[in-house]
Amino acid sequence: MSTGKINVQTENIFPIIKKFLYSDHEIFLRELVSNATDATQKLKALASMGEVKGDLGDLKIEVVLDKASKTLTIKDKGIGMTAEEIEKYITQIAFSGAEEFVQQYKDKVDKNVVIGHFGLGFYSAFMVAKKVEIYSLSHKAGAKAVRWECDGSPEYTIEEISNKTERGTNIVLHIADDSEEFLEKERISTLLNKYCKFLPVEIKFGTKKEWVDTDEKDDKGEPKRKEIEVDNIINNPTPAWVKKPSDLKEEDYKAFYRELYPMQFEEPLFHIHLNVDYPFNLTGILYFPKISNKFEAPKDRIQLYSNQVFVTDNVENIVPDFLTMLRGVIDSPDIPLNVSRSYLQADGNVKKISAHITKKVADKLEEIFKKEREDFEKKWDDIKIFVQYGMISDEKFYEKAIKFALLKNTDGKAFTFDEYENHVKANQTDKDKKVVYLYATNTDEQYTYIDAAKNRGYDVLLMDSPLDAHYINHLESKLKDTQFVRVDSDTVEKLIKKEEAQVSKLSEDEQNKLKPIVEGVVTKEKYTVVFESLSESDAPMLITRPEFMRRMKDMQALGGGMSFYGSMPDMYNLVVNANHPLISKILNEADTTKQGQLAKQAVDLALLSQGLLKGEELTKFVKRSVEMIH
Ligand code: ADP
Repeated sequence: MSTGKINVQTENIFPIIKKFLYSDHEIFLRELVSNATDATQKLKALASMGEVKGDLGDLKIEVVLDKASKTLTIKDKGIGMTAEEIEKYITQIAFSGAEEFVQQYKDKVDKNVVIGHFGLGFYSAFMVAKKVEIYSLSHKAGAKAVRWECDGSPEYTIEEISNKTERGTNIVLHIADDSEEFLEKERISTLLNKYCKFLPVEIKFGTKKEWVDTDEKDDKGEPKRKEIEVDNIINNPTPAWVKKPSDLKEEDYKAFYRELYPMQFEEPLFHIHLNVDYPFNLTGILYFPKISNKFEAPKDRIQLYSNQVFVTDNVENIVPDFLTMLRGVIDSPDIPLNVSRSYLQADGNVKKISAHITKKVADKLEEIFKKEREDFEKKWDDIKIFVQYGMISDEKFYEKAIKFALLKNTDGKAFTFDEYENHVKANQTDKDKKVVYLYATNTDEQYTYIDAAKNRGYDVLLMDSPLDAHYINHLESKLKDTQFVRVDSDTVEKLIKKEEAQVSKLSEDEQNKLKPIVEGVVTKEKYTVVFESLSESDAPMLITRPEFMRRMKDMQALGGGMSFYGSMPDMYNLVVNANHPLISKILNEADTTKQGQLAKQAVDLALLSQGLLKGEELTKFVKRSVEMIH
């Protein structure tokens, strides 16, 4: 037996590591199991090159919990280590990594500076163990088995042993008193499921019972069943994303989705299989979930893996913002894991990966649009939020998406932007040569306006997604000579301003006489009284809300920083239809009390049809109506 001193400057690094990583202690298991996986994969590689001969035997990794002796052991049958290798890789390299880490982060009090997922490696074992033992037998011919032990102080011992005869390494953690949670079967099970679910080598954690058919038959001639004990393998070593797309069917993708998100009952809309090996490595499968119009904080998020080891489900910066609502996995060994978020943002590879994902998503959408337009139209309502968000936030995506993004009108008919322009250009171009796109945000509430516009031969779009206010602004800045106008922002005659003189039944004098009468029955600060010559069949009075005013309010509601405009009082136009017989009647009424009553009644009707008449005013209106009928 010999002893040595780990060459670190800090007297005892482990308390410091512990302090920094208090919430991430659990990753020790990921680190140790992936070391075991690496050792196994290396052995396989050596065997395939002919450097290791003979049958490799069962290569399963095993995680063994022993509550009585308070140990957790990770066993592999990989390449193993000789005494020299342990000295070199564990005590020199692994611990120098620890030293470096501590030096770097010692003074940073904010734990968030440290991304929770750096390659901590072997020494992360000391976050949960008061003593660690390594038993190892190298694959090399004539190698002697060794035992190494360290209790977290820089001193360690190493000795030759004779009772390990199986190739590979056992890492024995003597769990510290403050970490006894890691002696719970449930806890370890959960961790293995979180971090190791798709590691490429089978991992056994205990056994489980399983029912199997026997050769014997029962009375009905069915095979008798019996319960047997089998290895509890916690992982799927060949998840769908590591397979070739050509080897997978639609059903396989759906099955993998369920494997990833066992609690998701809704099927995904479609998937995108990512597979790049130059200029960076990236594989993965992304799914478009069904989330419709709601902006919900997704709990089932995209998972990031590095060579099948789970790293995080926080893919901020790696996946463009507008795609963080997608689900699935990305696996890339080229994403640096041991750095801070701000570094990640500046990393060239990460930027390329993000751009690549954006491109792939756009390509896939375009492909579905071209090949299966009908299907695409059906899925549109579910995916439009992604597409709109992408078009607003990502120039490159906009350029691609403008070719397949859809506009739907209030009858549910879908158009591409080109198609729509052609559809409405002839009838909806105003006197300034701008094509006016009319839209509604709610087909019930804006029914009268939609109806009036349609009667004029106009088309009305339905823009009811939470992003539409931003989307419309963005589109207006991009599309040439196009303007969006909500159907209720003006009377139908004025929605699209054309040069046609309108004949009015009321002279200017008459209008001036009537105006104060109408103003006398409304809140002046809120309603601006204007006269318009609508048709006799239109309503006598109408409430409209100017487009600009509504947009300010909408933007403010979305947190668009328009607080100045947003805090302005709500303003509406009270449009008096100069051609309506009732208006002439009010004007010509000699009894001023009756005149006021009629005017009030007409105003209230207009308010009522907009849902603006409420409370006391509504009660008064009903009473007045009853009196008038009498
Ligand atoms: P990393 O895995 O990032 O290289 P670690 O600190 O986890 O850093 O491990 C240091 C080295 O120790 C590894 O590169 C490997 O050579 C060796 N090692 C660790 N665990 C094992 C193991 N179970 N079997 C064989 N070698 C191992």
